[in-house]
Amino acid sequence: MNKQLSRRAWGQGALALALTPWSLSAQQAMGSASDAPRHIRWQNDPFVLGVASGQPHADSVMLWTRLLVQDADQANVAQTVAVQCEVFADEALRKRVGQYTAMTSNQRGMSVHIEAKGLQPGRTYWYRFLCGSATSPVGRTRTTPAVQDKVQSLRLALASCQHFEQGFFAAHRDIAQQDLDLVLFVGDYIYESSNPRYLLRQHTGGVPQTLDEYRARHAQYKGDADLRAAHAAHPWVMTWDDHEVVNDYANDRDMKYTDPTVFLRRRAAAYQAYFEHMPVRIGPDAVNPANMRIHDRMGWGQLADLWTLDNRQYRSHHACPDPLKGGGRVVMSCNELVDPQRSMLGMAQERWLTQGMNTSQAAWKIVAQGTQMSSTGLATPMGRSAFTDGWDGYPLARERFLQNIADAKLQDVLVLGGDVHMNVAAQLRVKPNDEQSPVLASELTTTSITSRGMGETLAAQIRSNNPDIAHLRPDERGYTLIQVTPEGVQSEFRTTANPVQTGSVLGTQARFAVRRGVAGVVKA
Ligand code: FE
Ligand code: CA
Repeated sequence: MNKQLSRRAWGQGALALALTPWSLSAQQAMGSASDAPRHIRWQNDPFVLGVASGQPHADSVMLWTRLLVQDADQANVAQTVAVQCEVFADEALRKRVGQYTAMTSNQRGMSVHIEAKGLQPGRTYWYRFLCGSATSPVGRTRTTPAVQDKVQSLRLALASCQHFEQGFFAAHRDIAQQDLDLVLFVGDYIYESSNPRYLLRQHTGGVPQTLDEYRARHAQYKGDADLRAAHAAHPWVMTWDDHEVVNDYANDRDMKYTDPTVFLRRRAAAYQAYFEHMPVRIGPDAVNPANMRIHDRMGWGQLADLWTLDNRQYRSHHACPDPLKGGGRVVMSCNELVDPQRSMLGMAQERWLTQGMNTSQAAWKIVAQGTQMSSTGLATPMGRSAFTDGWDGYPLARERFLQNIADAKLQDVLVLGGDVHMNVAAQLRVKPNDEQSPVLASELTTTSITSRGMGETLAAQIRSNNPDIAHLRPDERGYTLIQVTPEGVQSEFRTTANPVQTGSVLGTQARFAVRRGVAGVVKA
């Protein structure tokens, strides 16, 4: 370990550097006696934000916690703090299979990211963190099956959109109790803004702009026991949507047309806080901290490849925006929509996805991303409407994605999304709603954990204008259970009435299936 390594480098959290085997003393690891960990006697539990795991591989998984240092403990805590992590093969915590030490500091918000390595494929592990007199809750996690494994099942919970003020996290309580391989969270983990009409509980602080303000918002969400339980129970695979930064942002532009250099500083703060609170492998780019790679690919043996996409960071600006108020809006005739240069994912991510899908050997190709892909346009006297923040605002990018499935003769493609606060099951074609255009893929979009959905009048119009949509309900809150097997996909929209109360219990709204080799959703 390099003696030159500064506290700053630790703080900025180059992950490989931040992780040292337990067998090295912290003094060796740090190369400086002044940084040797003290035994901190905590007045308050520093692990109140819980523990989490994520981005599993066949031989490793990311383990996360963040110390919350209260005022009474500030004087006890050095600039850099050593946190230990233990990994066990059994729930009784008797068979320890890994021990790690990581240093953390305020520069990374006292967050800890540890890659537990050398694990066995397709099995469950338990883990906990230790710091001085404090011990964290125990988390459970799971590795992916080995690449060549002919695995029979993948069970996941698809979730998104958890406005803290608009309801309680009963869905997470339900998720925590399910037997799952992973939770797939596709965005709007926090909300930056408030709607005073729907307040079951309240954000502290105003709309976040700075790193400290985004940290406080994430910490408030992690203060919810049901959310912590869902993190502790399963590994999470994640991407983001807009509200992790600000509503309807597109690349370097916000709705107020803020100077991009100013907005990108805010985006950097939001991405840094996101990284500090999530079990993700990669943080903001060291050179350009307004950039952070979230899109990823994960394999589930021979059964499935799963792509998680980033719909926000690289997208083209909204088409035909209101010059006074940017972001998405409903347009009737907008020539920009048919500009082939425009992309939801950015051309580099599009190419990466296409290349990956076209060479995938897995039975199912699952594409998880922020929003609904099927069209929600309405026929109007002025032409068909398009909401420019969704895929209808990037119709040629959607067409490229689906045309590639046709051209490469890909089968068994399942698109998963969130964002729209309604459950949707739909057929995907190159030409939406055109029976001449074959169904090429199946779509399941999950309703929100809490965030309020649209009214039934508009929902009914969308259904009647879009025969590709087999199911669309914005009235209930919840998440979607999905089981993938070599024969097919079974899904269950698990929901409860809006708004979600503390004691709400989830039931089944509807079930949809996809048969192997037959594109399209079928009511089950
Ligand atoms: Fe949302
Ligand atoms: Ca959103």
